[in-house]
Amino acid sequence: MLYGVKDLRVEDVEVPEVKDGEVLVKVKAATTCGTDLKIFQRGYVEKVIKLPTIFGHEWAGEVAEVGRGLEWPRKGMRVRAGNSAPCLHCSMCQRGKYNLCENMIWLWGAYAEYIKVPARMVLMNMQGIPDGISYEEAAITEPLACVLHGVEQANVKLGDTVAIIGAGPIGLLHLLTVKKMGAGRTIMIDLVDERLGFAEKLGADATVNSGKENVETRIRELTGGYGADVAIEAIGLSATWEQALKLARKGGTVLEFGGCPPGTEIKVNAEMLHYGELTVMGTFHTTPLHFRKALNLIATRTIDVRPLVTRKMKLDNIKEAFEILSTSKNELKIGILP
Ligand SMILES: [Zn+2]
Ligand SMILES: [Zn+2]
Repeated sequence: MLYGVKDLRVEDVEVPEVKDGEVLVKVKAATTCGTDLKIFQRGYVEKVIKLPTIFGHEWAGEVAEVGRGLEWPRKGMRVRAGNSAPCLHCSMCQRGKYNLCENMIWLWGAYAEYIKVPARMVLMNMQGIPDGISYEEAAITEPLACVLHGVEQANVKLGDTVAIIGAGPIGLLHLLTVKKMGAGRTIMIDLVDERLGFAEKLGADATVNSGKENVETRIRELTGGYGADVAIEAIGLSATWEQALKLARKGGTVLEFGGCPPGTEIKVNAEMLHYGELTVMGTFHTTPLHFRKALNLIATRTIDVRPLVTRKMKLDNIKEAFEILSTSKNELKIGILP
């Protein structure tokens, strides 16, 4: 149970009771996420999480109980679901912007032995897990779905040079995805050499340590003076949001992917926007379609997410897991196994 900033406690709670249309799942694996770490360290995403609550949102498991009125799934099936389900009725949904649904339901509670999936989410955003992949891999469907949604909006094309700020799990998922989309050249930027090492192993063509090198200069050097076709910010800080704006070429695209704390403002150079025809965009979350696509890509190992799980720990040690993530840059995601 998360009670507040850095206040995570292991407690016994009742197994949720299953009503019509709902499904109870025995969690087999959950994966830690940068969003969870932000909430643990800063606790600010009040719109989507109410404390105290069971925590975590990336998970996969085995169906333990099926509420009345459902033909699918069946007990014992391997499934994943959530962490959101749009309503289909609001004006955003009716414009096809399911990720911006005004009545979105969110599901927390991955770091537990059981999780109950609400009826709407069973219909809209629960999938069977194909054989041959692990529960940890299936749990990574959620962040990959967000990344897919982002890079599709940013319209990454065959041969594009893509610069990505942040070599954490989200930045690395961007790297793996844009490479599959045909990016000609990928450049990863981070402060931490270990993280850049991960990026190199996963196929980054070039890496830049922003603590040791001037990032703008390096990117110009690597792109014949032009800048990247697409620059992606995968951290969520105003300084790196502003940095991303300086890394794209004329007519290029900047995808501000990492969520900043509420109230954050950034400076944009109007000349660059107008005379340089820079496209600047943000993307938030994802849609049920992208969850399905992400799971398929993981299942076929078109995008191999296995290297992202750098450690596995027991549910009882969840607090230790978050302390490790808070201090060590050598870990990407920790698989939490009940
Ligand atoms: Zn996540
Ligand atoms: Zn809606």
